Amino acid sequence: MSSENSSLHAVSDSMGMTMPSNTPAGHARATALAAAGRVEALPTALVEYRSAGEVLVIGTEEEAALSVARQLGDPVNVAVFLTSLSNVVPFAPPKPASTSSASEHDVLVLSGPIKQLSGCLGEFSVTVPGGRGRDRDLAEIAGLSGRHFDIVLDLLESPLIQRELLPVGYFAPAGDEAALARAITEIPGLVGAFEKPQYFQLDTAICAHSRSGLTGCTRCLEACPAGAIQSLGDSLSVDPDLCQGAGVGATACPTVAMADRCSG
Ligand code: SF4
Repeated sequence: MSSENSSLHAVSDSMGMTMPSNTPAGHARATALAAAGRVEALPTALVEYRSAGEVLVIGTEEEAALSVARQLGDPVNVAVFLTSLSNVVPFAPPKPASTSSASEHDVLVLSGPIKQLSGCLGEFSVTVPGGRGRDRDLAEIAGLSGRHFDIVLDLLESPLIQRELLPVGYFAPAGDEAALARAITEIPGLVGAFEKPQYFQLDTAICAHSRSGLTGCTRCLEACPAGAIQSLGDSLSVDPDLCQGAGVGATACPTVAMADRCSG
């Protein structure tokens, strides 16, 4: 860990996240929180992110996206993906940006539709149509040795990931100029190793989610604002990278199967 590393707590605060109450998940949280008491604090494990500073800027207008990309500069390396060209150029080969740019940094420009985007700081996966019904990995096309992007700045008016708590390393200002300015300021600082607590502990023995294919409780899945909890049939999966410690899964849980490690 370098001296410049920061904890996830600092990263989350700087992202300015808020959770609206007028959504189904918000109502579920409110109900759970109203009935909740605090649970016993558990020992805290750590979750680590590693970012080499490979940034993907997703947009529809080339000049606007390139302008943002060039404002990022060192120490990050930026590629631009233009989704607006999907009807004109299904997928264009990588090409360097114009050398007439005032920036000394070349920006790789790609275009086409995006089929899937997932992940978090240090491990965003992006797939695009590769022809003959097969998908291709955008990071591989962009020539990234790590086969992933570390950070995503999504400039689309309707961002590709829409959750109340966005993944760490994913910025989606959705037309908000102040949010875009914050992202441009914060992204260069997301290079290195970062860690946060693993906020939850799940006791599968007392989880009432499902038995023999019959679904029972789904409270934590419905309430989680980060989309960190998934059903695997008779069991649950909680993604420690996506969990940001909102604590609503624990407060929603009627059996204490889901516990918040960080409550005291
Ligand atoms: S709220 Fe508790 S009992 Fe219900 S699915 Fe989640 S962990 Fe299991």
